Amino acid sequence: MEQIRIFCPATVANISCGFDVLGLCLDTIGDEMIIRKTSRKGIHISKISGQSLPTDPHKNVAGVAAMAMLKNLNTDNGFEIEIQKNIKAGSGIGSSAASAAGAVYGINKLMGSPFGTSEMVAFAMEGEQLASGALHADNVAPALFGGFTLVRSYDPLDIVKIHCPGELAVAVIHPQIEVKTSDARAVLKKNIPLKSAIRQWGNLGGLISGLYTEDYELISRSLHDEIVEPHRSVLIPAFKELKEAAALNGALGSGISGSGPSVFALCKGEKTARKVADAMKKVYSKTGVAHELHISKINPEGIKILDR
Ligand code: ADP
Repeated sequence: MEQIRIFCPATVANISCGFDVLGLCLDTIGDEMIIRKTSRKGIHISKISGQSLPTDPHKNVAGVAAMAMLKNLNTDNGFEIEIQKNIKAGSGIGSSAASAAGAVYGINKLMGSPFGTSEMVAFAMEGEQLASGALHADNVAPALFGGFTLVRSYDPLDIVKIHCPGELAVAVIHPQIEVKTSDARAVLKKNIPLKSAIRQWGNLGGLISGLYTEDYELISRSLHDEIVEPHRSVLIPAFKELKEAAALNGALGSGISGSGPSVFALCKGEKTARKVADAMKKVYSKTGVAHELHISKINPEGIKILDR
């Protein structure tokens, strides 16, 4: 195999009570990447369409992740990468993660799959570090594993794929404003009160249990964020109104997607997700906030091969 074309999905990280540890994979929005084996050594990004991003592999998360993997491969080949960006950078739905995960997935396939999925996550995290300054896996893990993922531990890296009820769907609204990940990190408090921590890990346990038992009431009761949302939500236009609209129209819960500005609502069934998306859209149409909407079921497999 000399070339592979793949779909690299968007992802929602944090999911209210799982800051930096939970993530889920979307199905209806993603980038496309072509990875080619070349006789020229090293990593080269030959083309990026859809958005203006650096082709210097040291400045693009795809290049950094690919170089991290290449260092651990015994090969005389190099790789060329083409990226069709459909996920806007800085949207909060894992734009950088899709590229980082796609690069390592493609190279791994072209090399006959020498690395397991968790090892690919570790390489992709090096790309993520370029985008946000931190080694985090809450977007690259669901992109590579698919479904719902939990980063149980970062050191050593331990990722768990969580059972996900088949009816679960997501509505995402993306206000067309920029929230810098650094600003979204700067508003966070360094210490958290014990009482908040207790409520948060109660909810995280409740959410995981609800996913396994397909108990939608329990999932709904658990979708709260005591720790991050109160501080970050000030950066998102009409956040309270979006949440109210989602709840009134049957969402199980809603919150900030990743570091924002996108807002997600988890729903039972695509029909409800569509209704919730419409209601959130009305909030922004009334207040004149330009936005994009995405409605998706959970993508159980993650990155998909389009052709090879
Ligand atoms: P998101 O949560 O939407 O991925 P991030 O803040 O994590 O947003 O990542 C976006 C940042 O990463 C931007 O500064 C962007 O320039 C940088 N970046 C570098 N390479 C890529 C890439 N291939 N795709 C998307 N963003 C990239």
